[in-house]
Amino acid sequence: MSPIRKIGVLTSGGDAPGMNAAIRAVVRVGIYHNLEVIGIKRGYTGLLEKDFLPMQNHSVSKIISLGGTILKSSRCPQFCESEVRKVAYHNMLEAGIDALAVIGGDGSFRGAHALHQEFGLPVVGIPGTIDNDIYGTDFTIGYDTAINTAISAIDKIRDTADSHNIIFFVEVMGRDAGFIGLSTSIATGAEATLIPEVESDIQALCDYLEYGRRKNKTSGIVIVAEGCRVGSATEVAAKVKEILPAYETRVTTLGHIQRGGSPSCSDRVLASVLGYGAVVALLDGLSDVMVGEINGEIVHTPFVKAIANHNALNRNWVKIAKILSM
Ligand code: ADP
Repeated sequence: MSPIRKIGVLTSGGDAPGMNAAIRAVVRVGIYHNLEVIGIKRGYTGLLEKDFLPMQNHSVSKIISLGGTILKSSRCPQFCESEVRKVAYHNMLEAGIDALAVIGGDGSFRGAHALHQEFGLPVVGIPGTIDNDIYGTDFTIGYDTAINTAISAIDKIRDTADSHNIIFFVEVMGRDAGFIGLSTSIATGAEATLIPEVESDIQALCDYLEYGRRKNKTSGIVIVAEGCRVGSATEVAAKVKEILPAYETRVTTLGHIQRGGSPSCSDRVLASVLGYGAVVALLDGLSDVMVGEINGEIVHTPFVKAIANHNALNRNWVKIAKILSM
C-alpha cells in the first residue's frame, strides 16, 4: 500500500456543534505529519462537484468556537448509487486525495464504507451528530452542546409554566434516540418524559399529571422526544387535552436551536481528540473504521459494526428520571 500523502476531510449529513473543532484537528494533525489536507465542501456533493479547498494551519484559525461547519454540509442522496460514487472516486484520484476523513452520522459512514469497499480507499469516520445514537463511542460530537442548549431553554419555559399554572409539552430532537430527551428531562426536573425507547401511554401520562395535581403541583414540563411513538408534542398535547380538558397546555418545539451555537468544552475536546485519532488511524494503516472515545480511550469500530448497531440508552436513567420527577 502506498503511503498516504494527501487526505480529504468533509462534513456530511446533519450539522452538529463541534464539527469545526474536528475539522481543525484533522487539518492540524495532518499538517503536523507532513500531509496535505484538502477540505471538501458540502459533504459528498463536493466530492462529485470537485469543490475542493486546500487547507493550511491558518485556514482553521479561530473556528474551534464556531457552531455549524465551515466546510458546509449536505444531503447527497445520489451518493447511494455506485455509478455516482465512481465519479467521486475519480475526482479524488485526479486531485491526488488518497484517504478520506468523514465527519457525520451513520448515513455518512455508509457512504464512506462503500468507497472503501468499492475502491479500497482508506476512509475513517468521526461521529458528529447531536443525537448521540452512534455505536462505538460514549458520546458523539455535538450532543453535549445540544443538551445544554435545550436545558437553558427549558429552564426558561419552566418560569412561565410556574407563573401561569400551565403544562408545557416541549419537543426535543434526537431522531429515533431518546438521549437528548432523557438527559434534558433529568437535568430540568421535568414531570414526564416520552422517548422512543420506552412504551408511552397517554392515559398513564394523564394519570401521572393528575397525581401531580393532587400533590399540589400547579405546572409541569413534559419532554417529548422527536421519535416518540405516541406522536409529536403537538399531538401528545391534544390527546392529553381531550382527557383533561381543564388543563391549560402549551407546546414548544425547540427545533434547530439545538443544533446550533458555540460548542461546549466537552464537545471541543472530544472533537479535537477524535480528529487527532482519525488522522493517526489513517497513518497507522487503519481503514473502514469509525474513531470513538470509550472510557476516555480512543477506540476504532469497523463501519459495519458502527452502522449496524446503535448506542444503547442506560435504562436505569429512565427509572431515575421517574423517581426524581415525583
Ligand atoms: P447522517 O450522516 O447525519 O446520518 P444522512 O443519513 O442524511 O446523515 O446521510 C448523509 C449522506 O450520506 C447522505 O446524504 C448520502 O450522501 C450519504 N449516504 C447515506 N446513506 C448512504 C448509503 N447507503 N450509501 C451511500 N451513501 C450514503
